[in-house]
Amino acid sequence: MNPASLVTALSGIGPSLAKKLEKLEINTVFDLLYHLPFRYLDRSLITPAALVQVGELVTIIGQIDSITNIRAKSGKMMQKASLSDSSGKIDIIWFYQPYLTRTLKPNQKVSLSGKVDFFNRRPALISPDYELLTPNSESVLLLHTGRLVPIYPETAGLTSKWLRTKIHSLLSELASDRVEPFAQRVQPSALGWKQALQNIHFPQNLDQVQPARQRLAFDELLLLQIRALKHKQQWQATKLAHSFAIDQEKILQFINALPFNLTPSQNQALKDILTDLSASVPMNRLLEGDVGSGKTVVAATTAYIAYLNGFQTLFMAPTQILASQHHATLSALFKPFGIEVGLITSQSKLKINNSSRSASESSILKIIVGTHALLSQTLQLNEVGLVIIDEQHRFGVVQRAAASARGQSPHVLTMTATPIPRTIALTLYGDLDLSLLTDMPPGRLPVKTWVVPESKRAAAYEWIKKQQTQAFIVCPFIEESETLTSVKSAKSEYAKLAKIFSESNLGLLHGKLQTKDKQQVITKFRAGEYDILVTTPIVEVGIDIPSATIMVIEGADRFGLAQLHQLRGRVGRSSSQSYCLLFSPTPSDRIKALETMTSGFELAENDLKLRGAGNIYGTSQHGVPNFKIARYDDFSLIPHVQKEAQRLLPKLNELPLLRDLVEKDKIDLIQPN
Ligand code: ADP
Ligand code: MG
Repeated sequence: MNPASLVTALSGIGPSLAKKLEKLEINTVFDLLYHLPFRYLDRSLITPAALVQVGELVTIIGQIDSITNIRAKSGKMMQKASLSDSSGKIDIIWFYQPYLTRTLKPNQKVSLSGKVDFFNRRPALISPDYELLTPNSESVLLLHTGRLVPIYPETAGLTSKWLRTKIHSLLSELASDRVEPFAQRVQPSALGWKQALQNIHFPQNLDQVQPARQRLAFDELLLLQIRALKHKQQWQATKLAHSFAIDQEKILQFINALPFNLTPSQNQALKDILTDLSASVPMNRLLEGDVGSGKTVVAATTAYIAYLNGFQTLFMAPTQILASQHHATLSALFKPFGIEVGLITSQSKLKINNSSRSASESSILKIIVGTHALLSQTLQLNEVGLVIIDEQHRFGVVQRAAASARGQSPHVLTMTATPIPRTIALTLYGDLDLSLLTDMPPGRLPVKTWVVPESKRAAAYEWIKKQQTQAFIVCPFIEESETLTSVKSAKSEYAKLAKIFSESNLGLLHGKLQTKDKQQVITKFRAGEYDILVTTPIVEVGIDIPSATIMVIEGADRFGLAQLHQLRGRVGRSSSQSYCLLFSPTPSDRIKALETMTSGFELAENDLKLRGAGNIYGTSQHGVPNFKIARYDDFSLIPHVQKEAQRLLPKLNELPLLRDLVEKDKIDLIQPN
């Protein structure tokens, strides 16, 4: 059996079950084996029938003496059985399961697990789970009763009982098989692969679980790491489209013309980038820095170097609003150097300064900003030397798209504010080189953050009026994408707030506005024509309006922690004190953490510790691979994982099972939209 096979390769799993399994993110045999229980029912103690106590959860093994369908006075259909073991007898009651009389015939040996309660004033086992035992079988193998019983994440039509049965038969198949994708490596623990799977799904005691989980977490990290290294290798094997010369003097001139001094980590990041750009393989670097740490100017300097070398830079932003903002920022930075920056506003339109042109004229520009529309065919992109991708997590895809068909790659700089701790980033993004912006521009004050109870709402509004500054008011997050409902809620919130803040000018921003209307609202807010911007969460990413110093978030509990931190990052962008007010009817500890923690890295780390594995700090919606098994404690394994991945990568061809797993790569399945 090949663990990389699709589940449909297993007997009894057809297209409809496969669909249900997909809901649990189970596509392959491997996924099914690594679908781990999140708890276990302890049904291991076998109780003699004569000794049961009312209220206890027990497992009893015995034989059926009799079973009949009866009707209670209330009219309920019931099944009443009598079971005996060497100690005595007990009654069993089921409801509405007339077919049981066909399965559980007299003399059938069974194991039953359930709760003891009174029935007709006598103790009886009520609606127990049952498992048939074959007569004379010496060593009885129990799955659903009489042991630690695994409970799995379920979905409609796929119960733990079904999963347990399937995984169990898979494991017995494996046991008789020589198949073992992770057999080759040096074990961090003595536990073998099959043993680990056996121990986590069907442990004999709870002490077996943790070592098994850690063994499997290692595999998970290893797989991610090998994939990343493989991507890196592929990337480095592509030919560099254009090699750059570095003109230190001109670069210094550009930096000295900036309205501020670079922070030490901005300088360090630029050094890293300069080293990359002067090499003969294409750069593939991730610039990671908390919101407001100043990634844009690092990117701009990089674009300037491409310009000096006579090549085009594509600067890709996730939204049109952000693209316009970058266009404005870059235009201002480059104006003194006589460099025009273009903005792609749709598949076919290009804006230069304030005039509209056809996108096919893009070849005259050296720096072009836009959304995914940048990848459209209408653009003339024969001179691309650098691609910059802002807040765009699906870079795997974008990079490949950006690398031209001729097998030549431009340099790529990706930026993210998602504060993934370094070690984890090295695993998730092991194919990228990493630069971290660890310090903030000088003079920034931490944003004072308060969770505000409903009783203080009116007082909070009065306080905002007194501050005489600009504020964002973000309406609750309703659904993933901007829907009519959330637009409606923003509109009614706007009407309500217009009365409360009758002396202020209010703007309204939501996703259903035309791009140019959105743009106009933002421009007016930036220019100070609005005091308050009522908005849906679309302002989340990247917007930079330093004069706004208050961020109000309604229904804060509906947002992920990462989103809240991003939203808060819209303020605190100047030397004035900024504030973030979080309204939440039932504030959780998660939300309260924002009051004391102002660094994204600190929040992410805290969130990881609290929530364990899974969705790392809300990155899943961005197509970043996620950990199913590995938890915070396991990240100490990473150095070991890295060594192992380095050792195994060149040997993949001798390890076909592992190679197949490595090639089943989720990133490849994500399509750009
Ligand atoms: P982010 O990393 O979130 O993309 P930005 O690049 O938007 O941050 O920068 C945030 C703000 O900080 C901008 O207004 C930018 O001009 C300013 N800024 C960037 N670097 C510095 C610096 N070294 N000193 C002072 N201000 C800076
Ligand atoms: Mg930014």
